[in-house]
Amino acid sequence: MFSFSTRVLLFNTLSGLLLLLCAAPSQPAFCADDVDPATLRAIGGHWYVSQQQPVTYYYKDTDRWLDLFSWHRKDSNADGIDNIRISHDETCLIIDSQGYPNHPTAIFPNSGNPNSIQVQNFRFRFPLKPEMSERITRLPMGPIGMALNGVVFFNPFEQGGMNAVAGYSEVWLDSCCGHPQQTGVYHYHKYPVCVKSPFKDDGKQHSPIIGFAFDGFPVYGPWESAKQMAKDLTGDAALDVCNGHQDQERGYHYHATPGRFPYVLGGYHGVVEPTNLRGPGRNLQQGAIEDNASGESRLPKVIAAVVPGSAVRGKQHRLTLTLDPAKATRSPLPDGVPEWVQIGPFEATSIQREGNQVTVEINIPEDSSVGVLMDCHIEFKGNDRRIVFKANDVFRVTMDEDP
Ligand SMILES: [Zn+2]
Ligand SMILES: [Zn+2]
Repeated sequence: MFSFSTRVLLFNTLSGLLLLLCAAPSQPAFCADDVDPATLRAIGGHWYVSQQQPVTYYYKDTDRWLDLFSWHRKDSNADGIDNIRISHDETCLIIDSQGYPNHPTAIFPNSGNPNSIQVQNFRFRFPLKPEMSERITRLPMGPIGMALNGVVFFNPFEQGGMNAVAGYSEVWLDSCCGHPQQTGVYHYHKYPVCVKSPFKDDGKQHSPIIGFAFDGFPVYGPWESAKQMAKDLTGDAALDVCNGHQDQERGYHYHATPGRFPYVLGGYHGVVEPTNLRGPGRNLQQGAIEDNASGESRLPKVIAAVVPGSAVRGKQHRLTLTLDPAKATRSPLPDGVPEWVQIGPFEATSIQREGNQVTVEINIPEDSSVGVLMDCHIEFKGNDRRIVFKANDVFRVTMDEDP
């Protein structure tokens, strides 16, 4: 688990690395364009591997060879083991993952979640040539796929089978859309805004890949084309019940759908690699999942407002959070300055409080993804565990100064 200072340091280090990788401002969104295809060996489907050391895996996405994983490999928890290690055999890309977030998170346990984040020892196999299956396979509980950083996606349901993202059964997710379960597996139930990579997502074209489902099909970010989110598509291009659709260049692929069930996957449209499924998930049923959200969220709405609700990239911004102590029903709103404020991936670099107004400064990097509403969480030091509050869909990054 990160202490207060190490998680700041960690993210700053990652941001620095990102700057280094994407330093040239004229460079297009994808930073792996300098690869010479002649040095790559095709291993199946969209996958290629470099023939020199260090061995690097590339995914051919439309006309680009993308190094999806190197940025995330770095040993972010400093235990001497890379976050993810990659190999392959005849049929699958094999990823060993620590399942450990390489972005700032809330400190767990806290008043919203009693578990702590633990390093995992996952091995996932992603079919190199994913195949469509005749019937839709139902998503299991537990991991259903993996984001590029090795952290797993879960389906949208909490343990009792109700929607974990919306309605009265909403659970406490941090600003990066994740939280740990009982065995310490940190996981995302919805579009993970903090899965940073060298690929920016500015809403001007189809989003980049953010992860893979256990049937081997890629999961892309929310955008289909300029100003068009995949969730809003209609007609032939519309997303199916699994949150996927097909196009000429990418083949079948899934999209994350912020604010719309099932948020990541609604089912597997491909043949699932069975070794990825453990425990109760083994005997899979058929059919897509259906939304069962009902009622109002029971999470206290202590953060009543975040102003402004949007800001441009590449600048430092000052935001004001208005707190409503009357809404702090589970744990009382502490006096004093919150120890941590985070909006999406952006951690506050300064925090001040006067009465119920908290003023923070955040720095939004030039390459931040734009257009998606992000959550905000704040943390106070409690006696035994942190006291946390949360507000959903309160802030978005824009490309230009304006509305
Ligand atoms: Zn969960
Ligand atoms: Zn698409």
